[in-house]
Amino acid sequence: MKRLSRGLAVLGLLLAAAIAPAHAAELSALESRIVQAVKARSPAALALLEKSVHINSGTLNVEGVKEVGRVFRAELDELGFATRWIDMPAEMARAGHLAAQRDGTRGKRVLLLGHMDTVFEPSSPVAPWQPDGPRIRGQGVSDMKGGVVILLEALRALKSVGVLDGAAVGVLLTGDEESVGQPGARARAELVQMARKSDAVLSFEGMGLDGSGEESLSTARRGAGGWVLTVTGKQGHSSGIFGPHAGYGAAYELARIVNAFREQLIEPGLTFGAGVMMAGTEVAFDPAQARGTAAGKSNVIPPQAMARGDLRALTPEQRDRARSRMREIVAKNLPGTSATITFAESYPPMPATPANEALLEMYSQVSVDLGMRPVKAANPETRGAGDVQFAAPYAAGLDGLGATGGGAHSPLEYLHPESIERNAIRAALMIYRLTR
Ligand SMILES: [Zn+2]
Repeated sequence: MKRLSRGLAVLGLLLAAAIAPAHAAELSALESRIVQAVKARSPAALALLEKSVHINSGTLNVEGVKEVGRVFRAELDELGFATRWIDMPAEMARAGHLAAQRDGTRGKRVLLLGHMDTVFEPSSPVAPWQPDGPRIRGQGVSDMKGGVVILLEALRALKSVGVLDGAAVGVLLTGDEESVGQPGARARAELVQMARKSDAVLSFEGMGLDGSGEESLSTARRGAGGWVLTVTGKQGHSSGIFGPHAGYGAAYELARIVNAFREQLIEPGLTFGAGVMMAGTEVAFDPAQARGTAAGKSNVIPPQAMARGDLRALTPEQRDRARSRMREIVAKNLPGTSATITFAESYPPMPATPANEALLEMYSQVSVDLGMRPVKAANPETRGAGDVQFAAPYAAGLDGLGATGGGAHSPLEYLHPESIERNAIRAALMIYRLTR
């Protein structure tokens, strides 16, 4: 790991050198008006955020997510977008998504992404909105209703100075980012459709902020998926184990396989956790409950074993290479056993392409032109997965344009309220420069 972090540090320095803008450029008169327009709305922007946060929208609270959708839809209607609600099938038990579009032919076609749901269901004891000194605590204040308000206020400022007309801007606010409805391909079909018609996708998840005040955006996010390993052996008296008739049993075969994964697959950027393993004469596992049972005796060679885990990779190539090596390992069965492994992908990898890095460079230049610090690329190994990854195969992507704060997915979630104005200004200039 030492070598890995040193390698990443060097890469980081090279990237920083590559993206460090030489000089701050003057804002144009129009850009200064965009900045003023965002600032004029700041109290109203916080009021909109507070209103949306007071509506519980835990992913499974279908009515709550729809209600938040109505609040944001009214804003997008007012901004001249054609809006529509996309329902999901009833059996998916998710609220659906809010899509909005303004057609135009000027500059790049931009898609803005956010999500309306939070991890806090109605039973959560966390207070929805609680000012706490310079911070605001609450349900989804930074992950990511704050980001949605930033997106809306950026668009509002562009409209108020007259530069939204003629720009091709789409907005998709998903209702199930924190727990994607299944099947995932259905739940993200609209996102893929809109990404296919876009040149640049900007996602408003929380912005990275380290202890020294350095901000970061994601140009890459690791893909995430799962694997299921099923092993069978011959049941028999344990006194005969390793013999020509009884074989090695399912437990030793399972142990061989996962140990071989650990010995042979570890490389930078790739992780593969084994989350649950069982072996015995009878093994049953219920994925919906993430719970299972195993039965067996110490004097019986177990005929059944299973393991389930995850697989996270930086690129599709790394994912595919890992999968094929895992399949090879699984196929080299111990005597008297057999094994199969299956893979499912929940988030495709978003590699750090030159196009993504160009978007970061553009955002960082906006920041410097405004007299703020440059913004660097976040390390994808320190973050989970996100919606922007579904768009990554089709358009350039950049994530993390939302609010700064912390404690996401915990009762301590908080927001730096001043980041709403600050990041709405940067998002507005970014969208303006992309679409001019
Ligand atoms: Zn989020």
